[in-house]
Amino acid sequence: MKITLLGTGTSNGVPVLGCQCEVCRSENPKDHRLRTAALVEDGDTRILIDAGPDIREQLLTQPFRKINAVLVTHIHYDHVGGMDDLRPYCHRFNGVDVYAEEKVMAGMRRMLPYCFPPEGMPLYPGAPELSLHKIEPHQVLKIGDMEVFPIRVMHDKMPILGYRFHDLAYITDMKTMADSEYQYLNGMKTLIINALRWDKPHHSHQLVDDAIRVSRKIGAERTVLIHLTHEIGLHDEANKRLPRGVEFGYDGQVIPF
Ligand SMILES: [Zn+2]
Ligand SMILES: [Zn+2]
Ligand SMILES: [Zn+2]
Repeated sequence: MKITLLGTGTSNGVPVLGCQCEVCRSENPKDHRLRTAALVEDGDTRILIDAGPDIREQLLTQPFRKINAVLVTHIHYDHVGGMDDLRPYCHRFNGVDVYAEEKVMAGMRRMLPYCFPPEGMPLYPGAPELSLHKIEPHQVLKIGDMEVFPIRVMHDKMPILGYRFHDLAYITDMKTMADSEYQYLNGMKTLIINALRWDKPHHSHQLVDDAIRVSRKIGAERTVLIHLTHEIGLHDEANKRLPRGVEFGYDGQVIPF
């Protein structure tokens, strides 16, 4: 199994429009961060986590094959803004199955009304055939050959989902997690988790130190940080500031597990 980090940037992406800082001007591809999304693969089974506004560009880097499921973490634009861009997959592979919590499904129906006509009404011609499937935390779902376990984390006051695949956990946009959740993360070898920047606390995202603390508590062997701002600094230099076993992710990074 492997996971490809399609994007490791925060909601603005990096470079930030109009910013002239050394990170935003950097020519190192590792300093260019599209909005956070990932592709998990196990044999022929392919699972996309989130489909934000950069998803078209991100999927152009991948072979054009069926996507068995899109797992949505939450309704923010940087995670769902690219759903319509899955159209070629819908048309070629007979629709795309999207898994989300009930309130996220309701949000998607409001955001893309032409994709989700009322019962009995035809789909707007050419619109993507997205089938919504309701999921809940702690209820295992089976997608192709893979078992997926949704984890509950908090994005400020908004409950959202992280996902566990075998011994890898993927968590984005987390600020806090209840102590009771750690029992589901026991034995995780790889943790992919958000860290916005080094300092200046944010109301809905954890900082680097917070992510390291969570990683230590879980006991992960390898921790990869995602959903990063330009304030992290130049990728190669910033990476040297992290303790052993922790690294900043970068776009296109492939992590076997
Ligand atoms: Zn986000
Ligand atoms: Zn910048
Ligand atoms: Zn968010």
